[in-house]
Amino acid sequence: MLIIMRQGATEKDIEKVKIFIEKKGFDAHISIGEVHTVIGAVGGRVIDPRDIELIEGVKEVIKITSSYKLVSRVFQPEDTIISVKGVKFGGSNIGMIAGPCAVESYEQMDKTAQALHKSGVRVLRGGAFKPRSSPYAFQGMGEEGLEIMRAVADKYKMAVTSEVMEISQIPLFEKYVDILQVGARNMQNFNLLKELGNVRKPVMIKRGLSATFEEWLMSAEYIMAGGNREVMLCERGIRTFERVTRNTLDLSAIPVIKKVSHLPILIDPSHGTGLRDKVIPMSRAAVAAGCDGLIIEVHHDPDSAQCDGAQSLYPEQYDKLYHSIKKIAPIVDKRVL
Ligand code: PEP
Ligand code: MN
Repeated sequence: MLIIMRQGATEKDIEKVKIFIEKKGFDAHISIGEVHTVIGAVGGRVIDPRDIELIEGVKEVIKITSSYKLVSRVFQPEDTIISVKGVKFGGSNIGMIAGPCAVESYEQMDKTAQALHKSGVRVLRGGAFKPRSSPYAFQGMGEEGLEIMRAVADKYKMAVTSEVMEISQIPLFEKYVDILQVGARNMQNFNLLKELGNVRKPVMIKRGLSATFEEWLMSAEYIMAGGNREVMLCERGIRTFERVTRNTLDLSAIPVIKKVSHLPILIDPSHGTGLRDKVIPMSRAAVAAGCDGLIIEVHHDPDSAQCDGAQSLYPEQYDKLYHSIKKIAPIVDKRVL
């Protein structure tokens, strides 16, 4: 249920509504907008909306039939803008994230970050715990990987993002990482999502391999319902019958999500296509379609990468990509950070 307050409703009015719904067992999530304040009532028992409509300052009560509430544009009409060390995702901003698939060594991270730093990258990616299809494939360096990434990022004054695979790893991520990534395979790990609701750092949730938009948004709802407002979505390609590309990058996610949700939507053309030569064209298309950020796999020496070398750009290719999307962004009233 969403409670829209009148323009000019006082803090006292809002507090009264909050107390009323909390007494009925609801959690109150307040969104202060430019014109109206909206209170999302989540959980709780069946309630007669007229009881709330009678409270001073209430404009209307909307019963939500769609299963997601807090991620919805009805709850918050304005775009959510997430700021990480000065890099913004959402609104008119396109935030850039780049780095290798996995942290492999200090030297590899340092060489890659040094090149990316020159191209203006301020958020570094790199997996320390890797969800691999084969148990015999490189599984990531674990905590040591996070340590390396943090040290390298600090050297170049960058923020870092990395994938958290299970609840027990969260404290480590709170220590080393600025944006916690939920991988495609964990999109519906509801226990993990609930715990991430208690974290006070941004979470980027990737779309599951065969997840519908509704399922994806519901997963984001889990994190928001736990109290974490800083959630961003990342389309990384879905499983279709096509085999030429690793996945089918569904760029329609951008207008679809933008219409129903206020959360930033990022595109990962690296996993979305699986092929290096497709990454620049699909990044350009994503920017033209209005994405709020890109996450790109880049390796200083992709031919020697432990994983996803074929979809990793050479640093000079990233530089070319960056300069080309910088030109496209203003056409759709955006700027690249
Ligand atoms: C990754 O970003 O390295 C990754 C494993 O992505 P996804 O979860 O989209 O497969
Ligand atoms: Mn990868």
